[in-house]
Amino acid sequence: MAKHLALEITDLNFSYGKKQVLYDLNLTVAAGQCGILLGPNGAGKSTLFALITRLYAHKYGKIHLAGFNIQKKPLKALAQLGVVFQQTTLDLDLTVQQNLRYHAALQGMSRKKSNLGILEQLERLGMYERRKEVVRQLNGGHRRRVEIARALMHKPRVLLLDEPTVGLDAPSRHAIVEHVHQLVADGDLAVLWATHLMDEIYASDKVALIHQGAVKAEGAVEDIIQQAQADNINDAFFKLTLGKG
Ligand code: ADP
Ligand code: MG
Repeated sequence: MAKHLALEITDLNFSYGKKQVLYDLNLTVAAGQCGILLGPNGAGKSTLFALITRLYAHKYGKIHLAGFNIQKKPLKALAQLGVVFQQTTLDLDLTVQQNLRYHAALQGMSRKKSNLGILEQLERLGMYERRKEVVRQLNGGHRRRVEIARALMHKPRVLLLDEPTVGLDAPSRHAIVEHVHQLVADGDLAVLWATHLMDEIYASDKVALIHQGAVKAEGAVEDIIQQAQADNINDAFFKLTLGKG
């Protein structure tokens, strides 16, 4: 069987009522690749995530997760997906470990599997020592790391992160960026990371620059700079996202 792309989005169009916000959007992320969805506020990043997670249904275009069409095989497709939403969704009064256990139970994982998953995922994110702390006591960066660990509990092939570093201080941001790139380097996980912050991009990442609901440039940072005929990524970003697009 041909190896499927982890995430494949084909000619996706979407409107809120009469207001069209995504236009013929094409995007792929392979296993072991960190995809960056780079775009200013209002570009359509969260809308795209809402379609991938099936919060909203699309009429035009296709979305495949690990080869499964999300409309035709929703359960199989969504089983391959882990998500960290823009707003934190942890229970602040529970411990780190209780939050993860709760999620594992919802996924139908046995206690044994859940305990192993908690150990494995929290260790990867450098949070295992804090497993008995109440989430309310953790700083924003640590809370984010717990959310990432939680999203990986069921071993999805694709991890979506919607602006996970917004509101964090510089060291916490740096730690999250490092951890996520390490997760990708460790194995077959495919990441799609939405951001408007250019300093979160590594040279090895695959960037899709999105503006007003369309992909304006795609490739490694170098390719984007070249496509925009710019001097650096900041310059490319401003060139490609200024004006009417
Ligand atoms: P981003 O996440 O890149 O900031 P969004 O996907 O949130 O962008 O928004 C894309 C566009 O869709 C914006 O113009 C926004 O105002 C609009 N939008 C977002 N959510 C809704 C909604 N529920 N109803 C109508 N318009 C929306
Ligand atoms: Mg958003």
